Amino acid sequence: MRRYVNLEEISDGKIYDEEDMVKADCLDCSGCSKCCQGMGNSITLDPYDVWQLIRGIGLPMEALLADQVELSVVNGVILPNLKMTGEREQCAFLNEKGRCSIHAFRPGICRLFPLGRYYEGDTFRYFLQTGECLHPKTKIKVRKWIDTPDYKRNKEFILHWHDLVNRMEELIRENEDDEFRKNINMMFLKTFYLTPYQTEAASDDVFYIQFYERQKQFQELSTH
Ligand code: SF4
Ligand code: SF4
Repeated sequence: MRRYVNLEEISDGKIYDEEDMVKADCLDCSGCSKCCQGMGNSITLDPYDVWQLIRGIGLPMEALLADQVELSVVNGVILPNLKMTGEREQCAFLNEKGRCSIHAFRPGICRLFPLGRYYEGDTFRYFLQTGECLHPKTKIKVRKWIDTPDYKRNKEFILHWHDLVNRMEELIRENEDDEFRKNINMMFLKTFYLTPYQTEAASDDVFYIQFYERQKQFQELSTH
């Protein structure tokens, strides 16, 4: 989820590139699962996260929405996020041993934590949240910590996605008609989340090709 905060207050004051070393490696978390609990609706899922979940678990989006994922309105835009459930308000993917049961295909925000993205101009870098994870940590290269296949291509996708969500927020801010807001949100959800993606192929190429087709389609539809 996007936050407008004073970086000095929540970080070590530094901005990191992907090749920089950062003190973020929580040494396998050893017994801690703090950031998998009580996170409200803050673990927002982008289309790549959802594609990975569907491919990894083998369930369609509708099934995820019945259980592990929910929809929330963020700055007027309806987006899916990981649902916190039960007495301990914990992620449905946290297993009884306090470990992530979908570690290999966990969402981007989970991969980042305790780092966050800092958007500036047409790119982003990273910052280290200092008050969120108090577990002992060692230094690791940012890119290694994030551990995302084809980092460059994924970063390009995240930037496109960030622009799209910004554009959606703008459209909603500029148009006070409730019917328009509802329809554009439905079109957005349907285009990027609810229309099934092809998930059989092993390669991430399949996702990116589908995403950029859908981006083009959405841009055409939303400008008419
Ligand atoms: S708070 Fe830190 S140590 Fe605990 S689960 Fe999250 S990343 Fe791991
Ligand atoms: S997906 Fe895994 S890492 Fe992310 S909040 Fe859930 S259990 Fe934690």
